[in-house]
Amino acid sequence: MKNRIIGDFLKKYWPHYTMGIIVLILSAYIQTLSPKILGNIIDELDSKNIIEHQIIINTGLLLLVALAAFVTRFIWRYFIIGTARNLECYLRQKLFEHFQKLSVDFFNSRKTGDLVAYAVNDINAVRMAFGPGLSLLVNGVGISTISAIAMVKSVNMRLTVLSLLPIPVIIFLILKIGKIIRKRFRIVQENFASISGRIQENISGIRVIKSYVQEDKEVLNFEELNNKMKESNIKMTRISSILSPLTKVCFGVSFMINLIYGSSLVKTGVITLGDFVAFNGYLTMIMQPIISIGRVINIFQRGMASFKRLNEVFEVKPDITDGVTDIQPNVIKGNIEFKNLNYTYLNSTEIALNDINLKIDKGQIIGIIGKTGSGKTTLMNLLLKLYNAEPGKIFIDGKDINDFTLETLRENIGYVPQDNFFFSATIQENIKFFKDVYSDEEIEDAARMSMIYDSIMEFPEKFETIVGERGVNLSGGQKQRISIARAIIKNPSILILDDALSAVDTKTEEEILKNLKTNLKERTGIIIANRISAIMNADLILVMDHGRIIERGTHEQLTNNQKLYYELYKEQFNEE
Ligand code: ADP
Repeated sequence: MKNRIIGDFLKKYWPHYTMGIIVLILSAYIQTLSPKILGNIIDELDSKNIIEHQIIINTGLLLLVALAAFVTRFIWRYFIIGTARNLECYLRQKLFEHFQKLSVDFFNSRKTGDLVAYAVNDINAVRMAFGPGLSLLVNGVGISTISAIAMVKSVNMRLTVLSLLPIPVIIFLILKIGKIIRKRFRIVQENFASISGRIQENISGIRVIKSYVQEDKEVLNFEELNNKMKESNIKMTRISSILSPLTKVCFGVSFMINLIYGSSLVKTGVITLGDFVAFNGYLTMIMQPIISIGRVINIFQRGMASFKRLNEVFEVKPDITDGVTDIQPNVIKGNIEFKNLNYTYLNSTEIALNDINLKIDKGQIIGIIGKTGSGKTTLMNLLLKLYNAEPGKIFIDGKDINDFTLETLRENIGYVPQDNFFFSATIQENIKFFKDVYSDEEIEDAARMSMIYDSIMEFPEKFETIVGERGVNLSGGQKQRISIARAIIKNPSILILDDALSAVDTKTEEEILKNLKTNLKERTGIIIANRISAIMNADLILVMDHGRIIERGTHEQLTNNQKLYYELYKEQFNEE
């Protein structure tokens, strides 16, 4: 199971990587040819009788090497860097698909910022490892090995060993200081996460902040975070700026040994001047990969950490599973039954629903009323299977809801939740939810039924008006009515309004309910409300308290009962 996601990708793309690595090694080899050719030119110039065409041939060869390096570089980048970009795209798509399948519980327990970071930062870190990281590694190992062999074989063994003596010291320094840099970088990243989280929270909550006059306090808090970020950045820069001069000093020692010992070898005729120049070229070539060691290690470490984090998310199983009965929309009739249903949320000790028994016949309208936290929404969440109910507790048309596919179940239920959410798209798109199966007439009818048609027609762009991510340019009541239109356009067998009329005035509320009653004949309606007026005409009214149904009956029966419902009724109607 582990690594399956990347495994699947590599199964398809390994030829790309193999090809890329082969061409990359070839490219490294081609680059190491130029010091030798340059050396040959120098030797030619240094000889007694200069053969001019030899110089021209060698210069041509140098040009050819540059051209071949260019072409091979293009090819390996296409195969390695390009495939890493494909990997990035593939992983992001898989992650997004996975997010869509995960249950509400998963999203309740994670911060939005963290989930966004998986899709952006972690996937990018994995791409860096599989693209630039891999190519830096192969290129570095290739160039240093080929250069070292050329130095030994075509110049001088002793000179090579002596000149390369400071290299282990450089590697040690890079690794040691690199570790400190990484530690400090982690702190910078943590501070960065806090800052972006704070900005995100502040922007989403700007209305509350303003209405509680918290702006100055927010600014002060932000200043503290911002300063912390600056200090951690300076601390990191301080140490990382030491590394480069230090390695340069060590390389300086390398070149010094090479100049002193190498020139004496030239003088004594052990090596030619051309060899000496070529040797310098090789030494310079080795420098770059060695300086990059820290970077390569860093890229791979981050890539591994991100890969692990992503794997953890990929391994979370959607705990809401599909049943097998796939019934076409509108075939569900809408008889609902709850049998001895209990429910406690994950990570909660408090029982949210306690021994719920209820039978609703298709075509009935049920009203549910009760204090906040009495379990009304939970009951609907379970009916929609947003959370798992035990088998044998909830039935639709006599069939356990766990037997239905999620699609059948949810396609047949029109649910208007308490909190509306709008996509930044037109009102029309928000009503039809990007499904092109609905005609303009159907969209208009749904809007008429939910009493929002006239308001929409007053907007300059009418149904084409764009609403913000949070529908900022709509009033609370307008948002609720558009949400109702979104649910009824589905023509569902079961319609649930979860406190979806609270911001609508009582007169409009009455109109909407009347429309629903005439248009949704034969369909089941469940209306959750805090206002008696929204449910008083229901066929059956339930009063919930502490997860239990404590009263049930018609408006008349319940008012005669003189219990909680009657108290609420008295309170609300006296007010009016
Ligand atoms: P209502 O809709 O009547 O206001 P809810 O069904 O939302 O009530 O809540 C019933 C109980 O379940 C409350 O005690 C609430 O705190 C708790 N609850 C609701 N959602 C969750 C959740 N995701 N995790 C834990 N407890 C929850």
